[in-house]
Amino acid sequence: MQEPSTVSESSPTVAAPWGVYPRARTRRVMVGGVAVGGDAPVVVQSMCDTDTRDVAATVAQIHEMEEAGCEIVRVAVPDIEAGEAIAKIRPQIQIPLVADIHFDWRLAILAAQKGADKLRINPGNIGGKKKIAEVVACARDRSLPIRVGVNQGSIEKDLLDKYGGNNPDSLVESALRNVEILAEHDFHDIILSLKSSNPGEAIAAYRSVSQKCDYPLHLGVTEAGPVKTGTLKSAVAMGTLLAEGIGDTIRVSLTGPKAEEMEACYGILQALGLRRRGPELVSCPSCGRIEIDLMSLVEEVQRTLKHVHTPVKVAVMGCVVNGPGEARDADWGIFGGKGVYLLTRKGEIVERYTDRDEAKAALTRVLLSAEHEVERPMAVSLS
Ligand code: SF4
Repeated sequence: MQEPSTVSESSPTVAAPWGVYPRARTRRVMVGGVAVGGDAPVVVQSMCDTDTRDVAATVAQIHEMEEAGCEIVRVAVPDIEAGEAIAKIRPQIQIPLVADIHFDWRLAILAAQKGADKLRINPGNIGGKKKIAEVVACARDRSLPIRVGVNQGSIEKDLLDKYGGNNPDSLVESALRNVEILAEHDFHDIILSLKSSNPGEAIAAYRSVSQKCDYPLHLGVTEAGPVKTGTLKSAVAMGTLLAEGIGDTIRVSLTGPKAEEMEACYGILQALGLRRRGPELVSCPSCGRIEIDLMSLVEEVQRTLKHVHTPVKVAVMGCVVNGPGEARDADWGIFGGKGVYLLTRKGEIVERYTDRDEAKAALTRVLLSAEHEVERPMAVSLS
């Protein structure tokens, strides 16, 4: 196990896969077979909203999440029955499972014994020193990491008094205090999250903590809201942090279908060039030069792309004024003009059509036959 270390502004960074955003150097922590931190890609995760005791419903939801690209999943463990259910859920899923525990140290030990790949606890609220020592010993025996997850609701009263309430300073000190409790047991397989419902506060808190320790950071904005506003808040906070090289795993918390969370996560990562998964559609906003019904064409291409699971970039443009070169970085494109539809590949015209439906059918054919590798997190073995 590595010794803890402090990072400073001059700490070396790890280049992002495309070399655009150098990443803050964090230690690598294994969650089951998935690496988080170090030079691993930013990992996408989510949490079930099923009753964990309902094994069939929970497994079904995790399968949907896996299909949508979830790479680590968390379930709530509020009681013994939920802890016992992990033994039935874990063998039926492919991705690592995290047990979310509040207050009861015995549930943490039970979840670990039943096959959880990681524990999410706050050491400060799990009991006295002896109980924490038992949880740590259990996690160590099984090589399980612990996520210390502090949020606005978990900040200790003395820190609220010291810093004048919920704010980035109290959040950071609470996180470090909880980390310290584990460090006292020489336990450092830690992932850290400091969630605020305010994107600005989340940015400030994660920036600050990334300067104070090298544990991998789990980014999130809590209680982000319904799909549209929640995605926007998360994209602002996580996009800002990731562009500064901060963040090793992300979860977008939305009040909505779980697949939307993964779509938002990959959307954020894709926008920054950090990960690619599934297709990306770019289209022009249209303007007074428009010569076709662009909106319906975009909707049709979007429907086709629902069946494409490869990282292909497709452009749909409303005229040929600026030429196919404008969408040079798109793998495929359609440029619609008066009486002509150009099918393009990497900015080069490959075919001209006079009929809109023929052009669209040609694009559909190539998209459904395209073979691209879907990027997955690096499978890194324990060493
Ligand atoms: S591609 Fe053509 S229609 Fe679309 S915004 Fe540009 S100029 Fe306007």
